[in-house]
Amino acid sequence: MNTLFFKSVTRNCKVLGKTNSLLSARFARSFTATTKSQSVDFTLSEDQESVRNLARKFSREVILPAASHHDKTGEYPVEIIKQAWELGLVNTHIPQAYGGLGLGVFDASLVSEELAYGCTGIQTAIEANGLAEAPVILAGNEEQKKKYLGRMTEEPLMAGYCVTEPGAGSDVANAKTTAVKHGDKWVVNGQKMWITNGGKANWYFLLAKTDPKANAGNAFTGFIVDADSPGIIVGRKEWNMGQRASDTRGITFENVEIPHENVLGAVGKGFKVAMGAFDTTRPLVASAAVGLAQRALDEATNYALERKTMGVPIIQHQAIAFMLADMAIGIESSRMMVWLAGQMRDSGKRNTYHASIAKALASETANKCAADAVQIFGGNGYNSEYPVEKLMRDAKIFMIYEGTSQIQRLIISRAIADAAMSKS
Ligand SMILES: Cc1cc2nc3c(=O)[nH]c(=O)nc-3n(C[C@H](O)[C@H](O)[C@H](O)COP(=O)(O)OP(=O)(O)OC[C@H]3O[C@@H](n4cnc5c(N)ncnc54)[C@H](O)[C@@H]3O)c2cc1C
Repeated sequence: MNTLFFKSVTRNCKVLGKTNSLLSARFARSFTATTKSQSVDFTLSEDQESVRNLARKFSREVILPAASHHDKTGEYPVEIIKQAWELGLVNTHIPQAYGGLGLGVFDASLVSEELAYGCTGIQTAIEANGLAEAPVILAGNEEQKKKYLGRMTEEPLMAGYCVTEPGAGSDVANAKTTAVKHGDKWVVNGQKMWITNGGKANWYFLLAKTDPKANAGNAFTGFIVDADSPGIIVGRKEWNMGQRASDTRGITFENVEIPHENVLGAVGKGFKVAMGAFDTTRPLVASAAVGLAQRALDEATNYALERKTMGVPIIQHQAIAFMLADMAIGIESSRMMVWLAGQMRDSGKRNTYHASIAKALASETANKCAADAVQIFGGNGYNSEYPVEKLMRDAKIFMIYEGTSQIQRLIISRAIADAAMSKS
């Protein structure tokens, strides 16, 4: 039994202001952190239903009502994140050995979809921890995991993933930040950009060039950097199109010293570590996009049932009803791709190709659903008093961060070509 999670679920009563004996009873039994079955079965286990219901309840009762405030003010949702952390809804994939739940990608996708339904800005702030932690889970040694993953489960801290630079996003191999070894320390200089949780992180995963002459596979090293290290300059909070609850900043490194013990994995092998994290995190970004798309469908359906034109509710106009049907088609198929990519990862199969398909499909579905929801709301849809214009602004970033839709297609098409060539 995962005692941390059991404790957090019992605290659920306090946080949500209601008794939730069903969840407490369920989690008094052992919590399975893996998918239900290796066979094809789309039925969720009781535990999976429970964790999904917990996230759904929290999202609808706590996140959703606060979403507009955080969107308008850009205020970081500190209290909401604390409550989510208390419930075990943050850092879901930290292994149990370091105090986490050790959820698989499949189970975590149930949580991220629900959190995103309430607000993808708040969900992104939460999920960015998972992105920073993934390289540590993948390549960290025992000491590093105990120290940096352990502290995330001891108190509600944030972390950031520092890879993108002003001149290198899709083209990570072109990143210029350097780390040079001096004795038992590395000295880092360079600039990172668009770092989620940039100003809130307790520590960062950092990718820096350690051999400028080598190819990408040998040129970079991954590091864990304490955010209070001298020489780290945190930039202003960027005012983005959407997901404004999330904290995005540039981070400058000026002669920042990192102890050698904070090298993640082997020197020179950081590129693979940084990219390998996406096999875990892209299905979760995709599931968040599904959450946003589902919200758009629900809002649009409710509105279409109430709003009347030409004497009938607009849902009775086939043009509107078919838009809703198309939204459902996109959502259901995206969710299935998320589940497949997650299940493959959890069962130890290579899922890079499927994770890219899930990410591209779900992010484009979210954009289509949000834009169609605005259309269904008509003039009201264009106004910030109604929820759907925020969904449209929030959706765009899903096609950009953690690899743009074009980069996903690059990965997918390369895999197709590789498979074809290996047959010939
Ligand atoms: C809100 C936000 C949060 C973010 N959070 C993080 C974070 O936490 N950590 C982090 O490291 N980064 C983060 N990023 C950065 C994000 O991952 C990059 O912005 C993204 O990878 C794209 O890189 P770029 O902005 O440099 O665009 P570019 O790479 O310059 O791309 C510009 C355009 O060209 C296209 N393109 C580029 N190369 C190719 C190609 N080979 N073939 C076809 N098309 C191509 C792209 O798809 C895009 O349309 C975040 C960004 C934002 C906006």
